[in-house]
Amino acid sequence: GNVSIGKLLNEMLDDFELKLEHAKMDIQLHIPEDLNINGNSELLDSVFRNLIDNSIKYAGEGSSIEIKHYFEDNNYHYFSYHDNGIGISEDHLPRIFERFYRADNGRSRKMGGTGLGLSIVKNAVGFHKGRIFVKARKEGGTEFFFSLKKQLS
Ligand code: ATP
Ligand code: MG
Repeated sequence: GNVSIGKLLNEMLDDFELKLEHAKMDIQLHIPEDLNINGNSELLDSVFRNLIDNSIKYAGEGSSIEIKHYFEDNNYHYFSYHDNGIGISEDHLPRIFERFYRADNGRSRKMGGTGLGLSIVKNAVGFHKGRIFVKARKEGGTEFFFSLKKQLS
């Protein structure tokens, strides 16, 4: 069906409100109001929900998240997602989309998790014919770039 990404994200922020407050974190959205993806709402939800869940778990108190729609072409919408937290070291980065893979960055040992979140994100992006990349930010933190096809057919 037709999924409004702005609406989906605003509802998601309500769900995360207490956790964000507890972690002294904030999220900035730069998503056009009228941006729709004709896709699977549960999978689209899982993309953003797992990324935000990770930032809250790992980035560290006081960090912030930014989610942006930065480009579109005929077939795709392009998004960036970043936090300015603890980050993931270069040697772990190539494997973090693998099932059960967890980076050994101290926080992940303390925080429970199965290492499935990012593999779910990758599959959900793939379902929407998109691609996802991760990058360590030079200012610190973690950045993801992904595309989602506007129309599945
Ligand atoms: P699950 O999502 O199944 O609860 P998980 O969070 O450990 O478990 P993933 O979401 O796949 O698994 O993330 C893989 C690993 O990547 C995490 O264990 C963590 O070490 C690292 N990671 C993911 N996102 C971030 C982030 N925003 N900042 C720092 N490290 C991160
Ligand atoms: Mg996770």
